[in-house]
Amino acid sequence: MMPNCHEAHRQVIESYDRKLPLGKRIALRLHLLACDACTNFARQMKLLRYAMRHIDR
Ligand SMILES: [Zn+2]
Repeated sequence: MMPNCHEAHRQVIESYDRKLPLGKRIALRLHLLACDACTNFARQMKLLRYAMRHIDR
């Protein structure tokens, strides 16, 4: 039920491109609450996506 870190990373990336099903979103959120590494990864991905969107122009 709980994704491991590899799964969590993949789902973080996926969640930026499309909406994840509710069950997956909850499992991912629970993992992020328990896992600092994935929380940092999610934060960095967010910054990166933000930067990439604004570099294009
Ligand atoms: Zn993790």
